[in-house]
Amino acid sequence: MAATTNLTTTLCKSFKYPIIVILGSTGVGKTKLSIELAKKVDGEIISADSMQVYKGLDVVTAKATQAERAEIKHHMIDMVNPLDSFSVVEFRNMALPIISDISSKGKVPIIVGGTNYYIESLLWNILVTEDSGNQKTLASDLEDTSPNLSKIDFEVLKDQSIYKFLQSIDPVAASKVHPNDSRKVKRKLEIWKATGKKPSDVIVEQQSLDGGDHLGGPLRFTNSLVFWLSCEQTALDKRICDRVESMLANGLVEEISGFYDDYNSKFLTKTPGFIPYKEGIFQAIGFKEFHNFLTSKFDNDNKKEELFKESIETLKRVTIRYSKKQNTWIRNRFLKRPSHSSPNVYKLDASVIEQWNETALQPALEAATLFLSGKKIQLSPMPRLFKDQAEDQHKQYFCETCNGKLIVGDSVWKQHCQSRKHKKRSAKRKKLEALDVKTV
Ligand SMILES: [Zn+2]
Repeated sequence: MAATTNLTTTLCKSFKYPIIVILGSTGVGKTKLSIELAKKVDGEIISADSMQVYKGLDVVTAKATQAERAEIKHHMIDMVNPLDSFSVVEFRNMALPIISDISSKGKVPIIVGGTNYYIESLLWNILVTEDSGNQKTLASDLEDTSPNLSKIDFEVLKDQSIYKFLQSIDPVAASKVHPNDSRKVKRKLEIWKATGKKPSDVIVEQQSLDGGDHLGGPLRFTNSLVFWLSCEQTALDKRICDRVESMLANGLVEEISGFYDDYNSKFLTKTPGFIPYKEGIFQAIGFKEFHNFLTSKFDNDNKKEELFKESIETLKRVTIRYSKKQNTWIRNRFLKRPSHSSPNVYKLDASVIEQWNETALQPALEAATLFLSGKKIQLSPMPRLFKDQAEDQHKQYFCETCNGKLIVGDSVWKQHCQSRKHKKRSAKRKKLEALDVKTV
């Protein structure tokens, strides 16, 4: 089949051909593993990274090198001009036909990422499908910091008024969140903003698809081998710091100052002080961290040196924080779900770089070979952490003891009943009731 795979058909179908997925946080060695794996199984790599889709900033965004790309075919890298916006829907619509084409050539698609909502858009049928408009987003992704969402409109409103607003457009959705839980309230409003539909309807639509669950729609690929290349956090912290240093050695500063000259200066002459760090590749970690360094005029070298060191430290700190977030996402999206709606995840350990072959590479190559020949994999999948399905996270309780206080969710209610305040009130109330009985 040629590259003209019908997109609409592609979007709705589920696929039985084998794919391999490599998850893992930044700095853990995904690129290295994916290339080794692709050589072994005759694969091609699909990068699921929201910054690598852009042309430029190769060092900062840690793209596979030209030599690596010459060796193994990489897709979804260097596709978009740095200042253009690129949505997750566009990513999905471009990447899915590519994946199918790789498979139809008899090769193995290897998805490697990076950006959690990009991977989600491929693995699950969870996108809110759109006919028109630019506001496109994932319903389930809204708790992450999706760069394509403008949250500003809601931020000017105070919590109580945005809750009232949600009540007015979708009372059902409003009844399922606590008025003070502004993150969830905003998330619902984002769905409404992105789709023009009631958030409660959108969620029901997705969950009711065959194979869906409480987090969204069904799996798109039913025959996948998913690796989590993981690393113990202290080792990862060190590796991230080392990587920043090696980026410096590979021309990080030259790259960003060149980019700055090409783009930022234009913005700064148009609108002094303004650089669109929320657009295009400007969002990349490793770029805005150098803002002060790049924009300041220095009267002495010490000051310049100081600011430079500050930028480096910020970059390390921000990258480490991002790596933790990526790992949390893997736990939430893969392990805290039942097996019918998320694939097994096989852990590979990259904590000790000297043991890379034994703890990461070899287990991956063996598992992939068995998987592709339809045999049982020797590794055990990671245990699932999903909560008891009987638990209702949205059930509303009004605690009579506590003057009708509203509590949302079974587990929160249980906690409340065990709390000191509630117990104290409850005891007091019983005393009073006993007195009442006596006086009657
Ligand atoms: Zn109470």
